[in-house]
Amino acid sequence: MIPTVVIVGAGFGGLRAARALRRAPVHIVLLDRHNYHLFQPLLYQVATAGLEPEQIAKPVRAILRGQRNLDFRMVEVTGVDLVARRLETSAGPVPYDHLILALGGETNFFGLDSVARHGFGLKGVDEAVAIRNHVLTCFEQAMLEPDPERRRARLTFVVVGGGPTGVEMAGALSELIRLVLVKDYPRLNIKDVRVLLLEATDRVLGAMPERLREAAGATLWRKHVEVRFGATVADFDGARVRLKSGEVIPAHTVIWAAGAQAPGLTGRLGLPTARQGRIVVQPTLRVAGHPEIAVVGDVAYFEVDGQPLPMVAPVAIQMAELAAGNIVRALRGAAPEAFRYRDPGTLATIGRNAAVARMFGLNWTGFPAWVMWLVVHIIQLIGFRNKLFVLVNWAWDYFFYERAVRLITRE
Ligand SMILES: Cc1cc2nc3c(=O)[nH]c(=O)nc-3n(C[C@H](O)[C@H](O)[C@H](O)COP(=O)(O)OP(=O)(O)OC[C@H]3O[C@@H](n4cnc5c(N)ncnc54)[C@H](O)[C@@H]3O)c2cc1C
Repeated sequence: MIPTVVIVGAGFGGLRAARALRRAPVHIVLLDRHNYHLFQPLLYQVATAGLEPEQIAKPVRAILRGQRNLDFRMVEVTGVDLVARRLETSAGPVPYDHLILALGGETNFFGLDSVARHGFGLKGVDEAVAIRNHVLTCFEQAMLEPDPERRRARLTFVVVGGGPTGVEMAGALSELIRLVLVKDYPRLNIKDVRVLLLEATDRVLGAMPERLREAAGATLWRKHVEVRFGATVADFDGARVRLKSGEVIPAHTVIWAAGAQAPGLTGRLGLPTARQGRIVVQPTLRVAGHPEIAVVGDVAYFEVDGQPLPMVAPVAIQMAELAAGNIVRALRGAAPEAFRYRDPGTLATIGRNAAVARMFGLNWTGFPAWVMWLVVHIIQLIGFRNKLFVLVNWAWDYFFYERAVRLITRE
């Protein structure tokens, strides 16, 4: 009997695992609640009207069309029976011989229910489109608002979290406003508009070397993003952000880029979890006591030098390759290998011509880092059509100071 490998999640990890097993003597069942693979690193560009959702996503069936040993099913996984080796899903049970969990992560609002209710996370296509609609609607409403204070509140945009997502989001939002929307709203007083980046610690891009952190901070200010350190959000009622210090910022928009955690499902699987609800894995990426289960990507908790590996795409991809390889080794009766992460570096862009990068053992800033960021992201996008359309879009926006997708599509 050919063994069945069930992979949950068609993100960076799940997709890579499925591809790595394409020649293995196994039957693969790939499950995801969406019918597409999403390139999350460019979500903020959908949120800031630069790209269409379909330019950063591709149907899983189209990506894996040629893979004979694979079945894709669009289902929600709701639980697992570890003894019977069976997943519970929205379409009934799915048995497995080997299981790879690549569930990804979700936004961590750190228990701030008011922010979860009134603010925006940035994890999926729906949220990115909701942010775009909301930001553009704020401008339309501001044009109708006679009261100057209420108008300023509509035009105050708060991004929370100084990691790469927050920095990229704040930079792109400020540029959308200052380079593009000013032309759409000629009666707008640009002094009424504020983009704030709130960071609870004393630094942005905490994982980067000091020189790059400073360069990023200076670039954000140059791009008119007000960076506030030691600023912890305590509450947001949809019209006012209250900080822990007691300060109140009138604003109708909070974009939360301050944290990620494992999906709630992981707490119900009966597997050992650690910080952020991530599933603890052994060096082989298997779960203790369950050699048939491997966990990869954001949802896996794996420490290197006492620190968990970050929730980034290269970790997910490299883990998936090892987990798939270990299944092939097991079929041959060979021992599993241990995971060793090769850090390819990190990149963050802050709008036109500006980025910071730690790559090839060097620190890069400004235009060279920005070009590096462009090349890396175009290469990683899945599908020639996406690569081409994104490239054309970026070139157009770059030369004409435009953003293509300034549509309010619902509200
Ligand atoms: C806005 C943003 C920007 C980012 N920027 C970068 C960056 O610049 N560089 C970088 O390296 N990383 C970046 N990341 C992180 C990177 O996207 C993740 O680390 C990576 O996607 C993790 O891969 P994964 O396979 O673990 O999970 P994901 O790619 O998130 O895939 C998980 C999949 O599992 C599916 N799923 C989850 N639960 C279920 C369920 N119960 N049933 C069925 N299906 C389910 C989901 O639909 C999803 O398709 C960014 C993330 C975000 C949100």
